[in-house]
Amino acid sequence: MTAFAFGDPITAGIDDLAHFTDGGRLTRLYLTPPHRQAAERVALWMREAGMVARIDATGSVVGRYEGLTPDAPALLLGSHIDTVRDAGRFDGNLGVLIALAVVQNLHRAGKRLPFALEVLAFGDEEGVRYPSTLGGSRAIAGRFDPAILDEKDTAGITRRRALEDFGCDPARIGAEARDPGKVLGYIEAHIEQGPVLEAEGLPVAVVTAINGASRGNVTITGIAGHAGTVPMTLRRDAVAAAAEMILAVERRALAEPDLVATVGRLILQSPATNTIAGQATFSVDLRAPSDAARLAALADIKSAIAAIAKARGVQAEASFGYDAPAARCDAALTDALAGAVARQGVPVRPLPSGAGHDGMALSGVFPIAMLFVRCKGGISHNPAEYASPADIDVAARVLIDFVEHFRAN
Ligand SMILES: [Zn+2]
Repeated sequence: MTAFAFGDPITAGIDDLAHFTDGGRLTRLYLTPPHRQAAERVALWMREAGMVARIDATGSVVGRYEGLTPDAPALLLGSHIDTVRDAGRFDGNLGVLIALAVVQNLHRAGKRLPFALEVLAFGDEEGVRYPSTLGGSRAIAGRFDPAILDEKDTAGITRRRALEDFGCDPARIGAEARDPGKVLGYIEAHIEQGPVLEAEGLPVAVVTAINGASRGNVTITGIAGHAGTVPMTLRRDAVAAAAEMILAVERRALAEPDLVATVGRLILQSPATNTIAGQATFSVDLRAPSDAARLAALADIKSAIAAIAKARGVQAEASFGYDAPAARCDAALTDALAGAVARQGVPVRPLPSGAGHDGMALSGVFPIAMLFVRCKGGISHNPAEYASPADIDVAARVLIDFVEHFRAN
């Protein structure tokens, strides 16, 4: 029974890859034996689809389907096959299988295009094993920092050693950098990992940007005191101040479309039921597709915190050390992708990506675009992660149509 010509075989491939795991629940960390097994399976599928496949110097699987002329510039399609611990099976793997389906479809028809297609299965997207991440896509973009080869995992194994054990030659990483003149763009399909498409009843969305992020901490110093003896009017309560500041962060985010702000951590010094807190520290995570909107919101949040601190007679120290700019999707590629969505009879829904992706490492060197696929309940990084064969089928048809209509210049 094949209800969905692309959705069903892609789902079968996802189930197949889910067998390559460290333990019962899906856990496939970078450069581990299950990663190697999954990489070899993907390379086999690439060869069956008429591609020349290899595992590159960072452990990415690279498959190439030549165009009408040899050595033509290539359109890159792909995603990642590493996972978090206790992962879902669709995150990353779905994009690799959709990319493979695009080439399988051409190969079955005996068709070549005026440009080459490359399918990439990155292995270092989730950043679970080593402190830094996106090593595979950074290498392709010519942005790999050799200093990270000395990073160690929790067992003390360096990235260099893990690469060598995987069969990779770290000395060749620099040679993986692509000539931007030979790359037409990078397109990735990925589950949304959020609830918007489900809420709106849509199978896919066209990504506008991978959000930039600011992260920092705010430490409030008040005066600790006895919960029974200090009158309300004489208190310098660090927790009450933190509560007011946290609500100010939420209010500012609500006032800006596409901006999200989260206080995910609140730490009290010596917390006790009968003590007025003397010190509280909370984190702030701020993300938006527009860097200008994000930085303006951050400035407003800082001044709101200062004003609340002043009114309450406490000290507040805000330090925001982390700033990652947004990766805008390429306008021309995104328009072309939107055209392919419309030709499938699906309304075009632009949506920013709140999570990070390999496109961040490639953006600025190559034009990038992304297609999001609806996932059940917006759940991701969890075994309950699910995308339906019907939605996967739509996404595969969009990418096939996109590639068929793509003009190299
Ligand atoms: Zn992912």
